[in-house]
Amino acid sequence: MSKIAIIAGAGPAGLTAAYDLLKRTDVHPIVLESTQAIGGIAQTFNYKGNRIDIGGHRFFSKSKRVMDWWFNILPHQGAPAADSIEKGHEIDYAAEVIVEFLCKECASGHEELRVTKPAPDPEKEDQVMLQRPRLSRIYFRRNFFPYPIGITLTVARRLGIVNTCLIGFSYIKAHLFPLKDESFLDAFFVNRFGRRLYETFFRDYTEKVWGVPCAQIRADWGAQRIKGLSLKRAVFHAVKDLLTSDFAKAQVERETSLITRFFYPKFGPGQMWETVTDQVRSCGGEVRMGRRVVGVRWESVPGSGFPVQDVQNKEQETRNSQITSVTIENSDTGETEELPCDYFFSTMPVRHLIGMMHPKPDDRVCEVAEGLIYRDFLTVGLLLKKLHVEEKGKKAAADVPDNWIYIQDGGVHVGRIQIFNNWSPYMVADRKNSIWIGLEYFVNEGDKIWVMPDKELIALGIAEMEKIGFARKADILDACVLRMPKAYPAYFGSYNQLDVVRDFTVQFSNLFLIGRNGMHRYNNQDHSMLTAMTAVDNIVAGITDHRNIWDVNVEPTYHEEKEQSEVDVEARKRAV
Ligand SMILES: Cc1cc2nc3c(=O)[nH]c(=O)nc-3n(C[C@H](O)[C@H](O)[C@H](O)COP(=O)(O)OP(=O)(O)OC[C@H]3O[C@@H](n4cnc5c(N)ncnc54)[C@H](O)[C@@H]3O)c2cc1C
Repeated sequence: MSKIAIIAGAGPAGLTAAYDLLKRTDVHPIVLESTQAIGGIAQTFNYKGNRIDIGGHRFFSKSKRVMDWWFNILPHQGAPAADSIEKGHEIDYAAEVIVEFLCKECASGHEELRVTKPAPDPEKEDQVMLQRPRLSRIYFRRNFFPYPIGITLTVARRLGIVNTCLIGFSYIKAHLFPLKDESFLDAFFVNRFGRRLYETFFRDYTEKVWGVPCAQIRADWGAQRIKGLSLKRAVFHAVKDLLTSDFAKAQVERETSLITRFFYPKFGPGQMWETVTDQVRSCGGEVRMGRRVVGVRWESVPGSGFPVQDVQNKEQETRNSQITSVTIENSDTGETEELPCDYFFSTMPVRHLIGMMHPKPDDRVCEVAEGLIYRDFLTVGLLLKKLHVEEKGKKAAADVPDNWIYIQDGGVHVGRIQIFNNWSPYMVADRKNSIWIGLEYFVNEGDKIWVMPDKELIALGIAEMEKIGFARKADILDACVLRMPKAYPAYFGSYNQLDVVRDFTVQFSNLFLIGRNGMHRYNNQDHSMLTAMTAVDNIVAGITDHRNIWDVNVEPTYHEEKEQSEVDVEARKRAV
């Protein structure tokens, strides 16, 4: 009898764990998913052939292990996508791809498990990863600004000379007299950008995302999110542009330097996870839908295992705790069932996991878990004949090149707009005659916007598009609403005491907290997957101390720029 791993959640982390267990061990994975959707936050929601990606999932990673894993599931494109030539996209195409299947069933039609074949043509095949250009800008008072914000001549012109000078003075002041305590986000931003630029471009959007003042949000989020961007560098470039004889050209170069590339499955991120699910099932693994984990039973044996800090007395002691079984509930019938397990992987919110453990963990652990806060998310999908984007001094545009746009204006609730046509032309049923956008609202489950009936939400979305000058009601063809609870684990509440929960859970030799909400960390797909991979590494190597899983994604800064250039280099290597 092979050992059994129960995995809570069919998102990127849970499915990576299941796939890697099948690939590298003889452990039988059973994935339990409470909803009917595969992919968690990285699912693709299909509305009449128009697809929504929650938040927009770029596939990029500094980790070669992750990139290779993705390309093994969905190989790099070998020919242009439907819109690449008309839009003049610069894309690296592969000539040949190598795919390694897990088992004979997955490799149906192929003699060998390792197959070399021509790179797929997205116009003819569906199992393909596209390379897409990236552009995201800030839309503010009917002007576009680069994201991340930099002071170029165009930006200075759009902000006005007085405002630009005041931003400059406020920046100098912040550098001469920096705020001493940088633990919270407002001080973090002010010290880097000056108060005025912070108030113009960072405060309202960040407060929309989190629903609380920046003064209450720990700076960790800013450090992970904000690129190695500094105003000093932006000003240096602006001055360099001024001194360049041909500064119009320098301006164009500066603006285009913001355009980088990322990878994206033909039908959105959910396609990756649906394909992985098919393979896991073909290879004998299980993915059960509509099955919610509602209870986790454990026992603790003192005197064996590895030394840990006891959360109460802070003394070193030796304990081995084990998860013994998991209770699951069928979401259709409400029936429950108890499944014994040898390993348990949790991608559920930490708050839920601790709350459902029997016996109840130490009070301190429960208190910290209970104090963790989440931010929820909803998308209003609007299908339009065309956009009507008003930009000062220009004719209204029927289309924009951006993947997504930040809405900085404080007078509307919408925080970001996704233009799904620009993520992949295959995200839209009739891409030639319609534009499919997603209005993103950062909300709290149960608040006024969350509970608003769909019809009213759609009306709100349309009214806000008209208000900011982005689209007109007369052009709307269809609409829908999609809600995603617990999209963001918040870096406030009891977050700064999370180590109490970590220290409690790492005592368990067969429990793995992985993923984003599973670890209450702002992990992207790559880091969520790496935590799952590290957990499987531990099983393979017989390691029972799982602290190494918590070492994934701890770099203080998030070198997105570097990551992207590395991805481009990798792509070029892959392309022939
Ligand atoms: C707005 C936004 C934009 C993003 N952009 C990017 C991006 O550009 N690139 C990128 O790589 N990543 C991005 N991410 C991050 C990415 O979505 C996550 O890293 C990833 O989805 C986390 O995977 P996961 O498996 O840990 O969790 P999830 O995706 O949250 O999946 C967890 C699953 O567990 C299920 N579940 C929960 N409780 C239970 C239970 N009790 N029993 C059974 N099942 C349960 C849930 O229904 C869900 O399906 C973005 C996220 C957001 C919110």
